[in-house]
Amino acid sequence: MTDPLQVRSSALPMAFICPASIRPPAIVIRESGPAADVGTATHEALRPLVEFGDLDWETVIATAEHHSADVVEVRMLVAQAVKIWRKLSKYFPHARTETFWRWDGGSYILTGHTDVDSIVDDGEEVRTLDWKTGRKDHDYSEQMKGYCALSMLETGASESSSTIAWVRDKEIEQYTMTYEQMRGWLERLEKRVVQWDGVYHPGEHCRFCPRDHECEARTAMVRASAAPFAMGDQTEDMTQWTPEKFHRVWNKVAVVLHYTKQMDKVMRDHVKRHGPIRLGEREIVAVEETRREIDPIAAWDTLVALGLYNDDLQKILRVSKDALEQVIRDKTSRGKKAIAVRSALSEIERAGAMKRKTTHKVVSRRIKESIDEEE
Ligand code: SF4
Repeated sequence: MTDPLQVRSSALPMAFICPASIRPPAIVIRESGPAADVGTATHEALRPLVEFGDLDWETVIATAEHHSADVVEVRMLVAQAVKIWRKLSKYFPHARTETFWRWDGGSYILTGHTDVDSIVDDGEEVRTLDWKTGRKDHDYSEQMKGYCALSMLETGASESSSTIAWVRDKEIEQYTMTYEQMRGWLERLEKRVVQWDGVYHPGEHCRFCPRDHECEARTAMVRASAAPFAMGDQTEDMTQWTPEKFHRVWNKVAVVLHYTKQMDKVMRDHVKRHGPIRLGEREIVAVEETRREIDPIAAWDTLVALGLYNDDLQKILRVSKDALEQVIRDKTSRGKKAIAVRSALSEIERAGAMKRKTTHKVVSRRIKESIDEEE
């Protein structure tokens, strides 16, 4: 008898696109990084807000530091989440946090971890909420449906809703499900995901798949995407392209860019570790480059002696806001750090020394519902 398939709700968005993605890989790779650290720290820091209606900013900073996350980023995200929670908390009476849900479907085990949940209407309805702190802007509807189903299956409620709080963008997205709709969804899960037909569905999503490093279907797709004819022609008049074509080519370029960067890194690491790769008169080799940097403090007297004044100094000196905040925090005792940073930034703002720079970028993202500030 085979073990039941483990289906985590967070893996459902990918599983419905490509059911192969939730089959265990031969080699398990656990990715961590700055974005994951920020997410973990923010989730942890938000628990007191939900449970007690308030949070302590010193603890937020300590939590960020504990997870080696970017303190400024975590603080910004928590501040955004506080604004969102002020509007949503009334819909989550007696809210709990970090609830683990599990349902045995026979041939599969469905599990999920909700950030916030609340049982209302005498147990007839369950509401869950998921904080999303990342920049990866994807369709999480199947994950939310997983939470809806799990919360009804475990509590016996007849309806459920799952809300995504997009902390960074201060936006929300909501999904609802009745018990009847849940039956249909579970059937779809079983048919599409659990009883997988063996067909792989590679695409732009592969880069987030835990089997990405060993999947041959993904490799074949990258090869095909890299073919120039698949990428579109730069000389074509893009005003004549349909939105479908624009999105299709955009996604192919994203795939090629991602794997090209990944391959580039792997090859560079290989050369650093194993030495030059020679071919005829050429070689690919790791070289050392030394750049000269000026220590502004040590050079200060010389700069002044050279007759440099405000305008000149402004061109050559930069103060990093993030680094400044960190220095203030390091110099201030526990319990007073956040206030010290805020008051220093206010002083700088009052002195007219805080400049704002707006950059423009083009991104592919989902269209989401905004939380109305004035509501
Ligand atoms: S890498 Fe892509 S094709 Fe391969 S299993 Fe994952 S999602 Fe499917």
